[in-house]
Order: sequence, then C-alpha cells, then structure tokens
Amino acid sequence: MNKALLKWGGLILAGHLYGHPGQVEDVSTAAGGAAGLPPAEVKISEQGGYRVIEANGLPNHAMGQFPGPGCPNAVSAQSYTFRMPLFPKTNGAFTVIKQQPIGVAVNGVPIDPGTAEYWKNDRNSGWHMEAIGGGKNLGLDQSLAHVQPNGAYHYHGIPEGLLAGLSANGNQKLMGYAADGFPIYAQTAQNRSSYQLKKGSRPSGTAGPGGTYDGTYEADYEFVEGSGDLDKANGKSGVTSEYPQGTYYYVATAEFPFYPRMLKGTPDASFRRGPPGGGPGGDSQRKGAGGSGGQQGGKSGGMGQAAGGSPMQRFDKNGDGKISMEEAPPPMKANFSQHDSNGDGWIDAEEARSLPRLGQGGPKGPPPN
Ligand SMILES: [Zn+2]
Repeated sequence: MNKALLKWGGLILAGHLYGHPGQVEDVSTAAGGAAGLPPAEVKISEQGGYRVIEANGLPNHAMGQFPGPGCPNAVSAQSYTFRMPLFPKTNGAFTVIKQQPIGVAVNGVPIDPGTAEYWKNDRNSGWHMEAIGGGKNLGLDQSLAHVQPNGAYHYHGIPEGLLAGLSANGNQKLMGYAADGFPIYAQTAQNRSSYQLKKGSRPSGTAGPGGTYDGTYEADYEFVEGSGDLDKANGKSGVTSEYPQGTYYYVATAEFPFYPRMLKGTPDASFRRGPPGGGPGGDSQRKGAGGSGGQQGGKSGGMGQAAGGSPMQRFDKNGDGKISMEEAPPPMKANFSQHDSNGDGWIDAEEARSLPRLGQGGPKGPPPN
C-alpha cells in the first residue's frame, strides 16, 4: 500500500474531475487531530480504473466526547484502503447493504448508517433500531457520528463538520463516494427522500415492540414512490458539476434513510468488514464485545486465538474459522448474541476474543483496540 498519505494542511478540495487517471487529491483541513490522536490523513487517487481512498479514518473536524454518554468507545486511527470503480455501472436490482460501510466521505471517514441494535437484542426480530431519531441514545456527536468498539469513527447522518469545510460554489456538495463508486452529494432542496413513516401502530406482543411508528426502527419507514425526489437507494440520475455528462448519484438527506441502505451498483469488496470471507462486522455499543472493524478486520482476523485451548480451537469443529450457534456449547449459546457483536450469526476470530479462555473466569477478553 502506498504510504504517502498526505497530512492535513489547508483548504478542503472536494471538487473532482471525472476520470483522470493518476490524479491525486489532497483533501485537507486546518483542524488538527484531537488530543492524543494523530492528524487526519486521507489520499484519494485513481489507479487502474479505480478510485482508491487511503485514510486513517480520523475526521478533519471537531468530534464529540468519546467515550461519552451513549457511546463507550474511544476513537483510534484506522488503516483504511477503500477502492471503487471510477466508471460504475447501475444494476437492474438494488443491493441491500448491511453491517458494513455504504461508502466513505471525502475526508476518509466511513459512512455506516446501520446499527447493531435490535428490539429485544434479537437480530431476527425484524426490528432494527435506527441511530438517528430513534429511541436509543447511541452517543452521536454534532456531525451525527460515533465510534465502533474498534475505535472507528463513522457517520450515521449528514456531517456538519465536514460540510462546513466543503466549498461548492452554489452547487451540490460532493461529500463522499458509495462502495459501488457512485458519488454521494449533500442534500439540496431538490433532493428529498421518498421514505415516509408508516401510519398507525406497530404490531405488539411477540410480533413487535408496539407503539406508534416514530422512527425508532428502520421498519417504521416505508418507501412511497413519488413522495420525494429520490429512489429507494436515496439516489437519482442527473448532471452535477463533477459529472457534466450526468451520473447516477446518492444523496445524504436530513431525513430517513440519511444515507442509502442499498446500492444501485455493485459494492466493492474493500468495504466489507472482517477477515476475508469472514462476513460483515457490526456497530455494537458493547465495549469489548469484539466488533471486528472495517479494514482492520483483515489484519486482525488471523490473530484471534493462537494459544492451545482457545475457544476457537475448542469449538470451531468444522474449522471454518468461526463458531456457529450449532458449534457453541450451552453457556456460549445462551450469550451468543452478546459475543456475535456484528450479528452475522457467527462468532468470528475477532469476536472470539470476548470469550472466556480456559481457566479464565471473566466473560470478557481484552477490548479489540
Ligand atoms: Zn454507528
């Protein structure tokens, strides 16, 4: 990987000419790193038909207090290399994105609107909690961002701190790129979400949490064709200053879904979380519960449990590098969702670090970062 990351230095240059191979952008800021953190770094380049965004994931603007109320995790520098096609294609069907970033902002901070919070902590309940406007305080800061257990700062909504530094000359502000390569613009009056709160009340009892559809859950909303300007993926086609020939693009909206939850093109694998083939990661608020993180997962995936008697060695009977519900012994089964912090149905190597080791009483291992 190219280590020549540029330090933040001056004004943000988010404007972008389409398809100039070899072009390197310096997206920078006058704001320094928060106390104890290195300065934000990002490099956006174009290599072999791809846009490559290398970043340490620290924002070029002020952050809230982390750890803080609603978010117990501290921010740390990451080592991201995201890539996406320079000339993306739309597909006939949308691809739903879960438990991984849907894109990355021009300052190198991942955009990850989903959560790992569910009604009754049951990911199969169908009631997935929202981070914004929901019933649970997840500690979002003024840029609608917070921190995953591995230290990854990420956006759930429109980041005011980033937008304040983007100049757009009256045009839409290009604030990031989705995992499929299409651009993400900040909302304008012409770009309204077409999602609406459902009318009436949620099912109750075992079927649902009851109460009125108030935005606490993703399923409180429905897509109402034509009620806004954007499609199901919060996108549309049009001409922008960076794409004078026109493009499909996404919009970050102040209303649900805030960012696309599905993509019109094919997401690049570099946005997947966790070790290669190990499935996605999550956005757990449970400090120390594992949550493999972003690009870090690829590196840390191999260092799960090396010593004999590790939970992975003892219980991963089929040797696929993760513990399934079936493989888990009864005590682990009982707390499975607690250890499966990304909610993908497996306890992977990173998550297994939260499991007690032989001769160790505590339920938690060291935090991932
Ligand atoms: Zn989050």
